[in-house]
Amino acid sequence: MSRLADILRRIIDSHGPLDVGQFMALCAAHRGAGYYHRRETIGLAGDFVTAPEISQTFGELLGLALAAFWQQTRPGGPIALVELGPGRGTLMTDLWRATSRVPGFHAAVRAVHLVEISSSLRQLQERTLRGLPLVFHEDLAELPRDLPLYLIANEFFDSLPMRQFVRTGRGLQERRVATDERGRFAFVLDPRPLPLASLETAGLAEVPAGPGAVVEIAPAREALVADLAARIAAQGGLAYILDYGFDTPRWADTLQAVARHRRVDPLAMPGEADLSSHVDFAALLRATRDSGTRRFGPIGQGRFLRRLGIETRLATLAARAGAAERTGLEAGVRRLIDPAAMGTLFKVLAIAGPGEDVPPGFTDDEERP
Ligand code: SAH
Repeated sequence: MSRLADILRRIIDSHGPLDVGQFMALCAAHRGAGYYHRRETIGLAGDFVTAPEISQTFGELLGLALAAFWQQTRPGGPIALVELGPGRGTLMTDLWRATSRVPGFHAAVRAVHLVEISSSLRQLQERTLRGLPLVFHEDLAELPRDLPLYLIANEFFDSLPMRQFVRTGRGLQERRVATDERGRFAFVLDPRPLPLASLETAGLAEVPAGPGAVVEIAPAREALVADLAARIAAQGGLAYILDYGFDTPRWADTLQAVARHRRVDPLAMPGEADLSSHVDFAALLRATRDSGTRRFGPIGQGRFLRRLGIETRLATLAARAGAAERTGLEAGVRRLIDPAAMGTLFKVLAIAGPGEDVPPGFTDDEERP
């Protein structure tokens, strides 16, 4: 068992069972022993693969979308370019290369702000993105307050902690992580029930659920998106949030752990597997409703990337490539947009400043009230 497992056992022994969010947060970010401080996590050699690792077109098109929005809304004006959880730095590499031909854009970017908790990924990002005007942050609160924010978060919200509640004969009981007599981690139910009515704001009170059904609530995600929207309301700009998840309220246990590209038991190898869960986009929309920003979507990633011109970009790349390379390029793009792969499970939400334009990739009627 890992060092983190021993640390978690001691915490549970002295404080009692952890809620799922506390367990996720410690597994991800514990200083020294948490998952994100390890070396290889993302990419073929790591545990899981993300869109920018699958196709260069992903970062390119997102970059060109941000640059087009900048040209429409504040041509020439200074901005802060921001990425939340930049992983291996691949998306930003592709974004920066693609935007180099947009006149004045690089000069307008005062700095590239990377919000990253992982020390090892920071080192990797620093190497990969050498030459860019980088500034690292641990927290959104450290971002500049005097510039419009042009921001991307891909597969970031899914890794923030969430809590789980189980429907029982007594109402809702929180699922917690305890240890059994042999020291193994196991789920238990908090003995103190909550009334079912506490789900009303989540729009779930009317959605039928049998005993044992699980609902997930993510205060950390809601607080973060609310902070982000408040910044964009005050400073202007545009945020694209991309992640896998759902847009109507549902009962579902979506906690998942992935190691070496395989699903594993979320409790079996703490700190050695990536823990995440589906993002509840309806909750993100509720958390930003009164922010004064313009919110669009979520729409499927496939539709979004098609509108940004992924097929044209693929054709350009394929025309320059050899036969074997072309097959790889086409397979990557297909994986990003195919409904059976990442095209609909992955969704895109856009948050734009008050009075700013409809963001590239969206239409008027996709604005949320
Ligand atoms: N966007 C990248 C990586 C996704 S993995 C890609 O698409 O490939 C999640 C990223 O978020 C990692 O870089 C991880 O270290 C970072 N991260 C996770 N939780 C974080 C937190 N609370 N604060 C800052 N960064 C976090």
